[in-house]
Amino acid sequence: MSPLQNHITALIRASGPLTLAEFMALCLQHPEHGYYTTRDPLGASGDFTTSPEISQMFGELIGLCLAQRWLDMGAPAPFTLAELGPGRGTLMADILRATRGVAGFHAAAEIVLIETSPALRARQAEALAGYEPTWENTFAPKPQPLLLVANEFFDALPIRQFIWDEAGWRERVVGLEEGALAFGLTDATQLAALEHRLDDTEIGDLVEVCGPAEAVASEIGAHIADHGGCALIIDYGDWRSNGDTFQAVKAHEKVSPLDSLGSADLTAHVDFQALAQAAEPAAHSPLTPQGVFLERLGITARAQALAQNLTGAALESHIAAHRRLTHPEEMGTLFKVMALMPSGAPAPAGLQNGA
Ligand code: SAH
Repeated sequence: MSPLQNHITALIRASGPLTLAEFMALCLQHPEHGYYTTRDPLGASGDFTTSPEISQMFGELIGLCLAQRWLDMGAPAPFTLAELGPGRGTLMADILRATRGVAGFHAAAEIVLIETSPALRARQAEALAGYEPTWENTFAPKPQPLLLVANEFFDALPIRQFIWDEAGWRERVVGLEEGALAFGLTDATQLAALEHRLDDTEIGDLVEVCGPAEAVASEIGAHIADHGGCALIIDYGDWRSNGDTFQAVKAHEKVSPLDSLGSADLTAHVDFQALAQAAEPAAHSPLTPQGVFLERLGITARAQALAQNLTGAALESHIAAHRRLTHPEEMGTLFKVMALMPSGAPAPAGLQNGA
């Protein structure tokens, strides 16, 4: 048994089953043995790959989208340029490289990285050598305009799962069966917080709730409503997700979430409606597939320009990366983009209705 498995088993013996959120938080963030505490999980030799790691084009286009919004806001200085869960720092590095030519943007930007993992903070410091980012464990921005990006951050936050049956809501928990970790269900209760889900929920349906994601969205929304700016949230998920999306991934393969505690990535799809509602009074853009967003920002033209200097295997891999980011059978449709902005402000480039 791994030390984390021992710890979780002992906890359940002592005080009963854990909610999925408690289980997920321990597996991902335990200060000694948590998945994100102990490793850099990204890339071919890691467990999963993300859009900024697939191609520089992703961060470049997001950089231009954010810089355009900054210009449209009247080029405020100073402003906070924040990223939630920056991984290896690749996205922020690409954003900064692509916006070097935007006069005044870098001088005005105070770069803030929200990251709990010491291993990844070190990677981010390397990727952003030459800039002066500051790190925070939680999102608490200064009272000034905010441009924020979060790619595959919200899917890492702990969820709870509830199943609706005749008697009420039963919560899915992790307990012990003959000494081994096993999923179970609590007795049914009525939950006022889930009342609004009854109109699209039938007996036996499973609903996921991510309290920490809603709390962060609420802070971003309140900040943007008061101080101006815009947040780009990119993740896999949908508008009002329904069903079990809790998954564990190790070495690019799906594994059982109850195996490999602390050495597999645990995620759940993002419920964008819940984020949009939590962010009020800020407004939100239409939820837009990543492929559509990147095409509207000009990824094909950028891909063609970069292809001019490539041949052989490098060209093949560049073409595959373009496809991977945008094609409906790859990340183009599963991944979605939503912006938060002040009520009355237009959505940023790439996210307007019907654009
Ligand atoms: N955005 C990056 C990395 C995605 S992985 C990319 O696209 O490549 C998820 C990131 O969120 C990691 O950097 C992880 O350490 C960070 N993270 C996960 N949970 C967090 C939390 N509760 N608070 C702050 N950062 C967190």
